[in-house]
Amino acid sequence: MIQPILVNTPLLAGNELKYLAECINTGWISSEGPFVCRFQEQFAAYIGKKYGVAVANGSAALDIAVQCLQICDGDEVIMPAFTIISPALSVVRAGGIPVLVDADPHTWNMNVEEIEAKITVKTKAIIVVHIYGLPVDINPILDLATRYGLKIIEDAAEVIGQTYRGEKCGSFGDISIFSFYPNKHITTGEGGMILTDNEELANHCRKLRNLAFEPNGRRFVHIESGWNYRMTNLQAALGVAQLENISFHLEKKRVIGLNYKQGLKQLKGYQQPLHSIDYAENIYWVYGLVADTQELCEATIQYLHQHKIGTRPFFWCMHEQPFFKQKGLFKNESYPVAEKLARNGFYIPSGLGLSENEQANVIEILNAFHG
Ligand SMILES: *Cc1c(COP(=O)(O)O)cnc(C)c1O
Repeated sequence: MIQPILVNTPLLAGNELKYLAECINTGWISSEGPFVCRFQEQFAAYIGKKYGVAVANGSAALDIAVQCLQICDGDEVIMPAFTIISPALSVVRAGGIPVLVDADPHTWNMNVEEIEAKITVKTKAIIVVHIYGLPVDINPILDLATRYGLKIIEDAAEVIGQTYRGEKCGSFGDISIFSFYPNKHITTGEGGMILTDNEELANHCRKLRNLAFEPNGRRFVHIESGWNYRMTNLQAALGVAQLENISFHLEKKRVIGLNYKQGLKQLKGYQQPLHSIDYAENIYWVYGLVADTQELCEATIQYLHQHKIGTRPFFWCMHEQPFFKQKGLFKNESYPVAEKLARNGFYIPSGLGLSENEQANVIEILNAFHG
């Protein structure tokens, strides 16, 4: 029997078990436990922000960020057409309107040059989402934000530990968010983090993750709506252990990326990730392949599936989401680069737990597809 090669397996090779045992042995398992503060402080220090607010997941972090920046009725928020649905959902649920920009065909990130034309008097913020391990060219976006008085939410879920011109991704936003889902560079199973340098925003985020309990008011009397988006001590214990190993995780992801680049050099008919760009070197959150045609994409996924090799299709575009169409959003809008990525793109096993043998198998089987 051939063992399947999963699209992601996490790496839990440090103090995870030890810290989890500490939670169990002390009885501290809820969000009140000491690992939560430790993880917040250490993660904020690692990225270079003053305040960290640990939450239940990355999507929760976006919900809180959007409400915290008071994005509501009719406010426009510029974001990429090609990304996970979370940022757009947070904005729509808050009553705001996502305004999309197409992807850049080389980096797959939002096309920075299209942003300024989308700014109107209603624009309140830009959600910058770094895609698949290569950062967005963020300096020109920060300039626009300053010139037009816009807030930046930086979604750094796929670039934990990555740098842009030598500074950590996630250090640029007014509010930055991270996810610690098991396929991210560090994981807590489920989990997320909000970072900011603004103390008032940080306090507001803390309040919103905790049902908006009033810090100084009578308990159980609420004047604002919040969520239970708290992170547990068990999750934070994993986070502290994972953060201890982040340099190794980043190094390993780079090796996986480079091995694929080297091993798949001869592969014809696919675009592969950029290894570097003048402002950053890829940390290969996932190793994506964009087939020249949709047929080739589907045939390759099918072929890899037959060989028990896991794949995932790329994100589906925001303007083509049935849920948003039902809401009357994005009528007659078209973003050709994002549409092509969504239809022709998929990624191959890229998790931190991928063994050298497994990767060699993936490379061999993929190369045999055309051979
Ligand atoms: C993973 C991810 C999220 C969502 O994180 P969850 O923890 O799964 O809710 C948000 N944005 C981006 C870019 C992501 O990759």
